[in-house]
Amino acid sequence: MSDCIFCKVVRGEIPANKRYETDTILAFDDIQPQGPVHVLVIPKRHIPNVTMLANESPSLSQDLMNAIASIASSTGICDNGFRVVANTGDDGGQTVHHLHFHLIGGRSMTWPPG
Ligand code: AMP
Ligand code: ZN
Repeated sequence: MSDCIFCKVVRGEIPANKRYETDTILAFDDIQPQGPVHVLVIPKRHIPNVTMLANESPSLSQDLMNAIASIASSTGICDNGFRVVANTGDDGGQTVHHLHFHLIGGRSMTWPPG
């Protein structure tokens, strides 16, 4: 989508600190990090949210999970643990309507979230 921020990151029109990239997936640092590690993992193709991901090929979901596991390992947060969040819709607090998984780690977290 032409006016989507994350599509612009994929096209290289907005700079990002890339952490992981394949044919289908891109991951980059969040500009407002909520922890020592805060990476956004997205499909390169514009998919609005996690419910729409269910309509896609299962291999894309697997690609996303492989990316999350790989980045958790490469950033050193696997052993202590981390959080994966997909804010969805207004009540979920989604502000960018291009599917993204927040991968946050490097600090202890509380539950429930706000
Ligand atoms: P959400 O509120 O779950 O939709 O998350 C959107 C996230 O995108 C927020 O954590 C923002 O800080 C982050 N964000 C917005 N624009 C950019 C950008 N250009 N590069 C990196 N992260 C961004
Ligand atoms: Zn997009």
